[in-house]
Order: sequence, then structure tokens, then C-alpha cells
Amino acid sequence: MKAVRVKEYGGPEVMSYEEVEVPSLGAKDVLVKIEAAGINYIDTYQRSGLYQIPLPATLGLEGAGTVEEVGPEVTLFAKGDRVAYTSVPGAYAEYAAVPEEKLVNLPDGVSFNQGAAAMLQACTAHYLSQSTYPIKNGDSCLIHAAAGGVGLLLIQMAKMAGAFVIGTCSTEEKAELARAAGADEVILYSEKDFLPEVKRITDGRGVNVVYDSVGKDTFDRSIDCLQPLGYMVLYGNASGPVTEFNPATLGPKGSLFLTRPTLFAYTADRKNLVWRTSDVFNWINEGKLKLRIEHFFPLAEAQEAHRALEGRKTTGKVILTP
Ligand code: NDP
Repeated sequence: MKAVRVKEYGGPEVMSYEEVEVPSLGAKDVLVKIEAAGINYIDTYQRSGLYQIPLPATLGLEGAGTVEEVGPEVTLFAKGDRVAYTSVPGAYAEYAAVPEEKLVNLPDGVSFNQGAAAMLQACTAHYLSQSTYPIKNGDSCLIHAAAGGVGLLLIQMAKMAGAFVIGTCSTEEKAELARAAGADEVILYSEKDFLPEVKRITDGRGVNVVYDSVGKDTFDRSIDCLQPLGYMVLYGNASGPVTEFNPATLGPKGSLFLTRPTLFAYTADRKNLVWRTSDVFNWINEGKLKLRIEHFFPLAEAQEAHRALEGRKTTGKVILTP
């Protein structure tokens, strides 16, 4: 089968499209013929070495497809089932071996592309808005990179929960998408400092929660956007990691909370995975959650897909098709 492999950390050029063996199955594994693989920002961290993984590796943490074969102890799935998964490495490939507890069924009405678009980014938006800081009716929130994959989904879930939503992004075209997803206000942080803008929009009060996936460039000012007892949710590093922080500063700024959550922790047990994916798939089928899937790349062009994502050229979801 074909797969996209990384043997050393580096730029997009370190990814090679190669012939490799179809993965062998453990007793509780399922062989999935991948129809759509999701591209996520974390893939670029794993490729660059910001997040270290054992090498050589096949990249990709999200896929949707059809069950081709099951291990002898698999009980939940059978050949031919339509399935999707996240948090298992190796999705940039024609086939992946996935432990059955990580798989979910794709309901009727949810396509492979939607499945691959929903598992990582929509489940992330779900845990951020339902669990890390459970948004309440009337809350205000600031969402950075609002037109990105997670951003557009998080806006919609924050609006469903009744929040006032301020988004940031780098271009007017992206701002239009964020507004269409429901953002009440959008700040072009490439042109204006978002901190005084957030203060102006909230009449000086600040917001209850900041969802910050940009990291280095936004972290300090994000904290200053919070109301007392506000939640600083740092969940990504698109501009680089935050490396220096003094927790004592959280006190005088109003007893703030700071967390650095990961999807893996919030879907570690199957109950949570099934809860989050069921909500997401139901919302898709009910038309409450719109997935913006606009960028498709063949598996052989994974390098181009990463260049587009890191070059801030994409909005919503980027899909690789084997
Ligand atoms: P996005 O589609 O959001 O792409 C990243 C966006 O970040 C860009 O489009 C860009 O939007 C913005 N950005 C700001 N500064 C930079 C920069 N210097 N270089 C590149 N992009 C920049 O990606 P994803 O939806 O896949 O992921 C969003 C973030 O969420 C990532 O940081 C990712 O690691 C994180 N994440 C964390 C998870 C967790 O559980 N902790 C799970 C899933 C994602 P603009 O041009 O508008 O600024």
C-alpha cells in the first residue's frame, strides 16, 4: 500500500510517499481501508519534531473508511462497516490498523469526508466548550484562529451554548467565514492589537474564557483579555510554543485559571469518545453543525497540504484522499 512516511524531523520536504506493507492486526485491531484522512496542525508538529514521535513513522491521526478485516477478538465491528477514528497514528495511508476501542461507526448521512473532518477537530471543539470550560448561556469568549479547522467548529458550539463570541483571524476573507459561523465580532489580529479591541467590545469587562491555539504570539495578551476568575485555555502552538510563564501572575490578574488540555485526555475512555462523537454526528445530521471541508489533496501531495496549512492558506478542514 501507499503511505506518507517521515524518517527525520524537518519541513514538509521530509515527508515521502512510499510503498509499505499493509499493517498487521493485533487481536483487537480493525483494518480500515481509508477513504479520507484528516490533516491537522498536530501533524506538522510531529513532522517538525516540536512534538517528538518514534521515527520512522506514518503521519496522520484521523481517518474514515471501511472495515476491511477484523482481529480475532474484535466484537464491535465487522467487515464492511463505515467507521472513523482519531488519536491513532498512521492515517496518511491506504490502510490503518486501529484498536477497536478507538473506532466509532459513521451514522447514515455522515460521509467519509465529514467523518474525517469531525473526529479530531470537532471532538476538540466539543471538549473545549463542554468540558474544559463548560460554556454557559450569556458567557463571553474569545476564539483565536477563528476561521481554522477547530476555530469554525468552536464558534458554532459556543453559539449553541449561548455565548457571545469574539473571533480573531488574519484576513477579511477569513473574517467573513467566522461571522458566517456565528461570531458576533471578529478582530483582524494581523492589523489591530486584539487586546484593546476585546476590552472595547466588552466595555472593559473582558471575557470569561479565551481559547488560544496560536500560542507564542497571543498568549500574554490573551490572559489580559480575561475577567477575574476567567479561564485561559491554551490548546495549541500555531505560532510557536509558550516557553516562559510565571503562575504567580494569575493571582493579581483576578485568580485566573490556566489549562493546557489535549484531546487525548478528553477521549481516553470509550464513554467520552462515544459521547462526543455522538453529539457531533447528531448535530451534523440535524444541520446544527456545519463542517467546512474545502481543501482536498491526494495522498501523494501531503507536502503541499502541509505547506498550505502552515502558510495560513487554508480555512476549515484539509482532507487527504488515498
Ligand atoms: P487551523 O486550521 O486553525 O490552522 C492554524 C491557524 O492558526 C492558521 O490558519 C492561522 O489562522 C493561525 N495562525 C496564527 N499564527 C500562525 C502562524 N504563525 N503560523 C501558522 N498559522 C498561524 O489548524 P487546526 O484547526 O488543525 O488546529 C488549530 C490549533 O488547535 C493548532 O494549534 C492545533 O495544534 C490545536 N489543536 C489542539 C488540540 C488539543 O487537543 N490540544 C486538538 C486539535 C487542534 P489565521 O491566518 O487566521 O491567523
